[in-house]
Amino acid sequence: MRLITLGIAILALTLSIDLSAQSNSTSDAFSMNSWFRAFKQNADAKAMHSFLVAMPKGGDLHHHLSGAGLSEWWFELASDPNKNGGYHYYTKVSFSHCEGYGSNEFGPTPQYMMFHTVSGHTWDALSDCQKSEYKRLDRLTAEQIAAFQNSIRLDKPHEGRDEFFERHWRRLGEMTANPTLMANILLKNMQAYAQENVQYLETQVNLQRATHSDGTPYTPEEALAVYEALLNSEEALETQVEVRFQYALLRFLPNAEQQLAWMYEFVDTQRQRYVGINMVGREDNDKGYPLRFLSTLREMRKRYPRIPLAIHAGESDEPNYHVRDTLLIGADRIGHGFNTITDPETLLLMRNGPYLIESNLISNLLLEYVDNFNQHPFPEYLRLGIPVALSTDDRGMWDSTLSDEFFIAVTHFNLSWDELLILVKNSISYSFLSPSDKAKQLEALEKNMSDFVAQIQSGEIPQRNSGTYLGQFICGYEPAVCE
Ligand SMILES: [Zn+2]
Repeated sequence: MRLITLGIAILALTLSIDLSAQSNSTSDAFSMNSWFRAFKQNADAKAMHSFLVAMPKGGDLHHHLSGAGLSEWWFELASDPNKNGGYHYYTKVSFSHCEGYGSNEFGPTPQYMMFHTVSGHTWDALSDCQKSEYKRLDRLTAEQIAAFQNSIRLDKPHEGRDEFFERHWRRLGEMTANPTLMANILLKNMQAYAQENVQYLETQVNLQRATHSDGTPYTPEEALAVYEALLNSEEALETQVEVRFQYALLRFLPNAEQQLAWMYEFVDTQRQRYVGINMVGREDNDKGYPLRFLSTLREMRKRYPRIPLAIHAGESDEPNYHVRDTLLIGADRIGHGFNTITDPETLLLMRNGPYLIESNLISNLLLEYVDNFNQHPFPEYLRLGIPVALSTDDRGMWDSTLSDEFFIAVTHFNLSWDELLILVKNSISYSFLSPSDKAKQLEALEKNMSDFVAQIQSGEIPQRNSGTYLGQFICGYEPAVCE
């Protein structure tokens, strides 16, 4: 116990020394804290947002690849076989009350869901009646294209948790089983992150459903090779965004334990790309409660060298002990940790501890865990000394960016420059990179940040217009940013 406490103390000390070194290097004649305080007072929303787009932000640690495609990207890639590995896709544009729809692992196939999308291979096997309900993506009218795109983003006041969990994912349907298309969604994320000065991405990529255009399955190794080819392409390398994967377990499935065992075996053999395992899925479905996996994880820890775990917990608007239980089953990082604040003993355990909370402010608002940002526990966690980082979760469905998360945090919670540095640094320090890769990323971050500060010190205010990446979320939430 004493050893653990010492370990935590050393970690905290290292962090504070590094950060104060960062401040000291600029504090002789110039204090970034004072400069940033004045900037906050004077900058309008647009100036603050473009400053935060330009600011080095480290990494995004909580990122579901299949939730991270902007609607425009899905349409562009899925409607063009030249860009998606030769697949055609069909989406539902009308209802004829056809009979004979079956079901798949996500439940009954969505016969009453507009813009449910299937591959050409699946479409070929439908009855004539069913076929007539679907239209090939490249044949949609402009109005249908807009509706298709809106169907996979949370853009209406009445849309919330149910629309997201029960309809968005099912609409994406078979598009997420195409590794070429998904690898290109990853490339577009990397390009967007380069634009907003993000250097590292730890994204969740699953391979078991990967399917060729003729309906035959890829092996997971073959599917991973598609991503590797993309990641080694000139376009991807040009972004200089470092990418690692986590494998995600859909926790409420009946065979989730066997899935988890398979993931351990697979990730253990692919450690150069896969750095961890996650557990996902709506937490108000009790079938995926954390302690369900205790014995399986203990068994896995007997068989394999350590694999880091980032587990969703506390994404709930009711008090429970899921964050505590998630630490018990071995989590290194907590996804959301939103209701940690309702469990005082766990909150105490987390203070200055080694477990990071991945905060996703925009996600929590849009999925109705808060009515407004003032209800969010993020500032409490940050200022109690609980390690916390900002991340985007399913940015494609919110049409948002990591800069937007920082904008919300700064404007709602009056973050100081030192607090911004803590968040940025945590997003690399608490990544699952190997120690040598992490050291490289931290060095790159330090250089990037000191260049950024030097620019300010020379009297210039770094600004980057996020241009095409100004999404619907921020433009709706703070229209002045997009004027
Ligand atoms: Zn998530």
